[in-house]
Amino acid sequence: MAKVLIIGAGGVGGVCTHKCAQAPEVFTDIVLASRTLSKCDAIAASVKRKTGRTITTAKVDADNVPELVALIRAHKPDIVVNLALPYQDLTIMDACLETGVPYLDTANYEPLDEAKFEYKWQWAYQNRFKDAGLMALLGSGFDPGVTNVFCAYAMKHLFDEMHELDIIDCNAGDHGHPFATNFNPEINIREVTARGRYWDRGEWLETDPLSWSMMYNFPEGIGPKKCFLMYHEELESLAINIKGLRRARFWMTFSDNYLNHLRVLENVGMTSIEPVDHNGQQIVPLQFLKSVLPEPASLGGRTKGRTCIGCKMKGVKNGEVKNYFIYNICDHEACYEEVESQAISYTTGVPAMIGAMMMVTGAWKGEGVFNMEQLDPDPFMDKLNIHGLPWVVVDLDKQ
Ligand code: NDP
Repeated sequence: MAKVLIIGAGGVGGVCTHKCAQAPEVFTDIVLASRTLSKCDAIAASVKRKTGRTITTAKVDADNVPELVALIRAHKPDIVVNLALPYQDLTIMDACLETGVPYLDTANYEPLDEAKFEYKWQWAYQNRFKDAGLMALLGSGFDPGVTNVFCAYAMKHLFDEMHELDIIDCNAGDHGHPFATNFNPEINIREVTARGRYWDRGEWLETDPLSWSMMYNFPEGIGPKKCFLMYHEELESLAINIKGLRRARFWMTFSDNYLNHLRVLENVGMTSIEPVDHNGQQIVPLQFLKSVLPEPASLGGRTKGRTCIGCKMKGVKNGEVKNYFIYNICDHEACYEEVESQAISYTTGVPAMIGAMMMVTGAWKGEGVFNMEQLDPDPFMDKLNIHGLPWVVVDLDKQ
């Protein structure tokens, strides 16, 4: 039925390729392209082992628009799924426009020399995608992604207005390394060391990095964990698209061990994105740090425990105040057993596949640039239950 071109052979790209291969009724052809061909081939071998399917692999530099255009023209996909890094979003969008192919990603564009986490660069493509009659779907991972869809579901079925939103992301897993990040270290550390920011009655308020915390008691035996307020990109679109929203915050759990390592790395300058001179060569400390840390894709076989990511929401329905928590729990070892990856890549790669499925089957249609909460949540929520990320709605007033 559809041919998908996935760009980026990292942790998330690996999971998405596996999940597309598990849905042959939709994805009849799969092409995986990335900077390092051997990584594509390793994923292709894993997909062959697990599903028996053969996929095509290719090498591409996704910073280079003509190379991307040539790749897209050679393979003629029905959709391009961008699972490279946020730095490549605009070049891949440009190539999609030039070749007339719909676009999907999981993280908003960031310039290499600024850690901004803003949609402005990609929202500026609105008219170009509209005029081309093409759809671009932004942020189809878990957070952003499923968290936006949880909000849309709550607006459709649970609330007339949502007033307060806390997105809470808990990784209660352990990979056994003294320090490693669960997704691309450079992106992860940029995000965690940025100033906190949240939406409060029509304005953005800032906090020092990781200076606010709360305890949250996670369900299904995970128990209480300390969560830190951070800025996260979905807050920007949700603050605009969710009716009545007065306060929106994002929280993430970190172990003391992770925070201690991060503090030391920060204090010695290793998390900086400013280039420094090293033996006559300019290097970016954070990029050097990335090259000595474990690859996120290598954590799969050694990570144990579960993740719980959900939206705690307060709003009104028929004049009555209501409180809900919608969440998913995902088990690292079960993910590894299924697709040879840990749960962080899994919880991102599955929604990337489902977003692509929504687009190629026509369940989600549109012309222009869309955030996830702007589309009908129901077909996406149905697919989450089928494809490995089942969700639970808890009425907190009835507990
Ligand atoms: P990885 O670093 O594991 O993988 C990124 C892949 O992109 C690598 O294979 C890399 O190639 C490739 N790549 C980088 N630059 C280029 C380039 N110029 N041309 C071609 N390929 C390139 O990252 P993850 O898989 O962990 O993350 C992928 C994306 O998912 C990121 O944008 C991340 O921010 C996002 N994400 C979103 C989440 C969500 O919930 N929404 C959660 C987690 C991640 P090479 O191997 O050669 O370096």
